[in-house]
Amino acid sequence: MNLRPEEISSIIKEQIKNYENKVELTDTGSVLKVGDGIASVYGLENAMAGELLEFPGEVYGMALNLEEDMVGAVMLGNDQGIKEGDIVKRTGNVVSVPVGDALVGRVVNALGQPIDGKGPINADKRRPVESEATGIIARKSVHQPLETGIKAIDAMIPIGKGQRELVIGDRQTGKTSICVDTILNQKGKDVICIYVAIGQKRSTVAQLVNTFEKHGAMDYTIVVSATASESAPLQFLAPYAGVAMGEEFMFDGKHVLIVYDDLTKHAVAYREMSLLLKRPPGREAYPGDVFYLHSRLLERAAKLSDDLGGGSITALPIIETQGGDVSAYIPTNVISITDGQIYLTPELFYAGIRPAVDPGISVSRVGGSAQIKSMKKVAGPLKLLYSQYKELAAFAQFGSDLDEDTKKRLAQGERIVEVLKQGEHQPLAVENQVMMIHAVTNDLLAEIPVNNIARFEKELYEFVNTNYPEIGKKILENGDFTQELTNAINEFKKKFVIEA
Ligand code: ATP
Ligand code: MG
Repeated sequence: MNLRPEEISSIIKEQIKNYENKVELTDTGSVLKVGDGIASVYGLENAMAGELLEFPGEVYGMALNLEEDMVGAVMLGNDQGIKEGDIVKRTGNVVSVPVGDALVGRVVNALGQPIDGKGPINADKRRPVESEATGIIARKSVHQPLETGIKAIDAMIPIGKGQRELVIGDRQTGKTSICVDTILNQKGKDVICIYVAIGQKRSTVAQLVNTFEKHGAMDYTIVVSATASESAPLQFLAPYAGVAMGEEFMFDGKHVLIVYDDLTKHAVAYREMSLLLKRPPGREAYPGDVFYLHSRLLERAAKLSDDLGGGSITALPIIETQGGDVSAYIPTNVISITDGQIYLTPELFYAGIRPAVDPGISVSRVGGSAQIKSMKKVAGPLKLLYSQYKELAAFAQFGSDLDEDTKKRLAQGERIVEVLKQGEHQPLAVENQVMMIHAVTNDLLAEIPVNNIARFEKELYEFVNTNYPEIGKKILENGDFTQELTNAINEFKKKFVIEA
């Protein structure tokens, strides 16, 4: 720490003056230096790590660097009015946010304060933003599906309640859309959703809230927003604030889905804050504890045991890569602390295969045990056929003389790719997904031209659900639907009008 001589003498003078009431200094301090959202405070001997500090004018800060006779604090509000020598008081509380039902349907900042202009939030309870993750004994293995409504994911990379599944890809590959659609798909499913926006543009967040409202998703969603225009400390806090809100519901036996969009920007905000706090930089100039930054966040996602009410927090962290490089520091860290990854690639995205999920390299390490039986039954052959097709297609590029069987398999593969395409904001019920996957894996779509498949799909759902509603029910109840569904699809094929 570099102190100017005037500062030292003023401190000494202060100490002499206050020698008698030294006790005071343990709970108060004075500002030595302030700027860039960081304050160095002399005194505050008893301050706790993460404690909320009160500056003049009801501005708050958070104690982070605890040193021998000073504290490095980040400002949680505007530091414009703060000057050297200002008195800082301990509050005795760590930073906390309001929690509970009153937050649902609201847009709040990283401190849980409303920013949607819909008036104050009447929450009667608060939770600390930092809290220890649930222990091993209190957990149960993931066994209930958390359906995204996206065919490619629910079939091949299924997610279970309590799982942490990373969504990773370059910029503009549809990362946010996948998570937003997953939130839209939770409508009527008793899952509270929390969307945490970190370092995004204000207009982007506003648009997103609009989308949620349009689809009736705000009824069960909380948006926590720390936009790019907000200080690094607030961007740093936002995901912890979000998960603290989620924990309240989880410990109440409810299911929560939380999206962190995105942790790359979160790490950057933390790096900025750490550099200003003069913590030593390490690899890629991130501080040494950047791994802990994300592990302690993601460890708070859990599936609780029945004794504890059986609630859960499912986390979908997003990471943006540069040029598909997953071996950079932050991506490798987050990959190692999640239960699987959904990889999105620009190649697929620009080839019009959207969602641009690459099933070849995406994995879900625990979700398979959470798939409903009917889905599992049709998804097994799908994965196999898909990977065989990929191999065959790479091979077939070089040869012109293809035998009948190869041609058939290539044609089926093209249809699989087509079936897995899905527009934005159109999450599909799992029984419908099963119908279409059953159709393509059993090669019932061979006569349907690829460019007709999207329409075929839409009309098929309508046909089956209107004429044979019991099939959907059987699928959901894991009954035997195979023959009935095949018959229904064949019947529909006769009615379907192929367009050029
Ligand atoms: P960023 O890196 O900017 O955060 P992102 O990876 O989150 O981008 P999105 O914002 O989700 O990507 O999507 C990028 C664009 O692609 C958007 O314009 C979106 O409307 C479009 N898009 C995403 N998914 C689909 C889809 N399944 N079908 C058609 N368009 C899509
Ligand atoms: Mg995005």
